[in-house]
Amino acid sequence: MKYDFQQIVDNLFDGLYVVDNQRIITYWNKAAERITGYGADEVIGFSCKDDILVHVDDKGVGLCRGLCPLARTLRDSKVREAEVFLHHKAGHRVPVWVRITPLKDQDGRVIGAAELFTDLSNQSVIAERMRELEKLATLDRLTGLPNRNHIEPEIDVRLQEFRRYATVFGVMFCDIDRFKTFNDTYGHDVGDMVLKTVSNTLKHNIRPFDVIGRWGGEEFVGVVRNVDRDTLCTVGERWRMLVEKTYISHHGATLNVTVSIGATLAQSADTVETIVKRADQFLYESKHNGRNRLTAEGQTCSGDKNHLKT
Ligand code: GH3
Ligand code: MG
Ligand code: MG
Repeated sequence: MKYDFQQIVDNLFDGLYVVDNQRIITYWNKAAERITGYGADEVIGFSCKDDILVHVDDKGVGLCRGLCPLARTLRDSKVREAEVFLHHKAGHRVPVWVRITPLKDQDGRVIGAAELFTDLSNQSVIAERMRELEKLATLDRLTGLPNRNHIEPEIDVRLQEFRRYATVFGVMFCDIDRFKTFNDTYGHDVGDMVLKTVSNTLKHNIRPFDVIGRWGGEEFVGVVRNVDRDTLCTVGERWRMLVEKTYISHHGATLNVTVSIGATLAQSADTVETIVKRADQFLYESKHNGRNRLTAEGQTCSGDKNHLKT
């Protein structure tokens, strides 16, 4: 098997550059580009002496003036390793571990050097941290559900998908019934416990491709994919029933709450605002008709077909 070494070096995870014996950069791989911010076209043909990367050591001493490890290796053909801090194009310093290897011709004469450098700032850790922060910003602290900052863009993406591929989805607006009275009766902390428990029920029972988040207060908004009105009813009824059957124990008593739900299907002219507003209007109908029920597109859905009100 013959390997394409050019491709391997181009795609190394570590930065790699090669200089000739005048310290002119002749090769610069993609990782070098990623770590330093400089493209190959900006550095090839230039010398370390041109102060592009301006390496400094851990004492802040510039390495390109005489002491340059590259220059030393070119002189004594020894392999060198060091931790240095290079200048990123954007201005900041990047810690890198450099390994310099002399390159020799067939007669053993040094004709250049290769510098391999590993990014010690550990981009993957930074990226992971960014992802965590992002998650924190879109996660509701009390319930652990996605918050409105997550749900709104989610609806927006589904709307774009719907307009392009006609993949219908629905929005489900759920609001806990008479929660103020619940808090007034049992206290805010018990109210919080119920909120968390209801959230957990919803979290554990949505279909894998659906999303439910805390919209605010005692309101939840679900994004339900691949549905028609009947499926919307079935899914919403399941949520309503599961919340009704969810309870916590408090001083020997079992406490539960119910939710009223308004559900609607996406329409081609919808925006995030209009679709949520329509679901909210259907929710209002559920409240008006006696709470602990689901209204989908203006019609009451019920697990018990005998109570179907159209
Ligand atoms: P309705 O059936 O009409 O929705 O009545 P409601 O009492 O649920 O509605 P209202 O909007 O009047 O009151 C909502 C209550 O939800 C008021 C507030 O105390 C409570 N609530 C909102 N967020 C939280 C929370 O994070 N924790 C607790 N414990 N209560 C909350
Ligand atoms: Mg409310
Ligand atoms: Mg309420």
